[in-house]
Amino acid sequence: MAYDDSNIFAKILRGEIPCNKVYEDDYALAFHDIRPLAPVHVLVIPKGRYISLDDMCADAEPAFVGGFFRAVAETARVLGVVGSGYRILANNGEHAHQEVLHFHVHVFAGRPLGGMLKAAG
Ligand code: AMP
Repeated sequence: MAYDDSNIFAKILRGEIPCNKVYEDDYALAFHDIRPLAPVHVLVIPKGRYISLDDMCADAEPAFVGGFFRAVAETARVLGVVGSGYRILANNGEHAHQEVLHFHVHVFAGRPLGGMLKAAG
């Protein structure tokens, strides 16, 4: 599957659509999710044309991948949630219900987050 430059996060990266920014560096941009599922719900997106983790790890330099995940940790620090704890999650592909086809990591925090997933058949 080819990266589609018209996806909403590509538009945010190009500054065509506003976002409520939390953190930015050379590798990533972090901003509040418009439909928060927790008191803190932030998305961290890489500054590159990557659909998924698989895509990013196949095409990006290791230094970029490391820089991106460092930016996720830095986002949690900026949010002040390292002490209380937080969850990171990335939906990749159809079974995970990935809606936006630009790789992103969700950061959830601000209350006890419960168990991981409901048991499924
Ligand atoms: P996913 O299902 O992992 O692809 O999640 C996509 C997330 O992007 C959802 O939580 C949406 O609420 C969020 N989202 C969609 N459009 C925007 C936007 N313009 N600004 C911030 N978050 C958005």
